[in-house]
Amino acid sequence: MQHFLCFPAVMPRPIQALIHTDALTHNLQRCRQAAGESKVWAVVKANAYGHGIERAYEGLRGADGFALLDLAEAERIRALGWRGPILLLEGVFDPRDLELCSRLGLWHTIHSDEQLDMLAGHKTLQPHKVFLKLNSGMQRLGFAPERLRAAYARLQALPQVDDIGLMTHFATADVAVPGLDAAWQVFQTATAELPGERSVCNSAALLRHPQLAEQTDWVRPGIALYGSSPDFPEYGIAHWDLQPTMSLRSELISVRELQPGDSVGYGAIFTAERPMRIGVVACGYADGYPRVAPTGTPVLVAGHRSRTLGRVSMDMLAVDLSTESTGIPADLDVGVGTEVTLWGRSSCGKVLPIDEVAASAGTLGYELMCALAQRVPVEVTE
Ligand SMILES: *Cc1c(COP(=O)(O)O)cnc(C)c1O
Repeated sequence: MQHFLCFPAVMPRPIQALIHTDALTHNLQRCRQAAGESKVWAVVKANAYGHGIERAYEGLRGADGFALLDLAEAERIRALGWRGPILLLEGVFDPRDLELCSRLGLWHTIHSDEQLDMLAGHKTLQPHKVFLKLNSGMQRLGFAPERLRAAYARLQALPQVDDIGLMTHFATADVAVPGLDAAWQVFQTATAELPGERSVCNSAALLRHPQLAEQTDWVRPGIALYGSSPDFPEYGIAHWDLQPTMSLRSELISVRELQPGDSVGYGAIFTAERPMRIGVVACGYADGYPRVAPTGTPVLVAGHRSRTLGRVSMDMLAVDLSTESTGIPADLDVGVGTEVTLWGRSSCGKVLPIDEVAASAGTLGYELMCALAQRVPVEVTE
């Protein structure tokens, strides 16, 4: 007879990220609304902006297609059972990638002569659907306007191709400058009378210029699906009616009283001027929280707004618990184990937009969600 020793399950640190399926669905619906009759590619590059493709899939499967740039991620979407369109936003990087495109039925962008050459040398029984990309001013990928027609003609002559769409990516869709109108004009002129579906809108263009969505066939929202505003701080998620899809939550693991002159954390860069209570949170830059976030970066303590204090360290950061300088009510019972929301939604439903934390750290919601660290346990919820 065998005897098993039963150890208690190992409790992880009290930090967790939640992926909100309902919020993904809501945001997709918002993008659909803005898109009118246009079809929607859900952009899921960078592992669904750090959410995890498999975790985000349920919330986004109502899209008309998925757009991304990593072939391994395209394989993962097919493995989830998705049979609809998948678009490689940067096309292929190597001739061998075309095998996978044939096998998985991937649509791919053609942005260069090199990619045209690769396709011309590719043997396939299944002709490909491609999107020919125009450089409308971003100066990263795409054919110059005066070279677009020649590329189009070359694609048309290839037996490897049976459908050609036309796309571009705007450099300035998120800010109020005349650049977007100019880029749209460049696209209109360069593609005039060429047959094929059109796609130009990222989240910012879609929400700010829905008339462009109406004039094209596919839109490509990414960040808006994940509940971050594409044009913060001009507009926040409340304005665009978007909901946070990722919440980073942890707990207080220590509470202490500071005396005037006491400093907090590495470098002693925050010093108390009066007696105050602070809490230490189990979250640091090794969890993906930005180390550069300065004193004053917003957090929610039990759903009430507070602020970080001092330097963010690898595994911990400090928050203000004093009622004088935060929104924490005096009669609230705050102690070890109290929930702290670093961004997203608290368990009682209060929202701290990731954009506010990002802005305080001098970056964007995009970067924070993509940087969520591997060591943070992730749970998919409603
Ligand atoms: C990332 C990307 C998008 C989505 O951009 P968001 O700003 O996240 O909406 C759309 N199109 C292309 C080509 C992209 O690379």
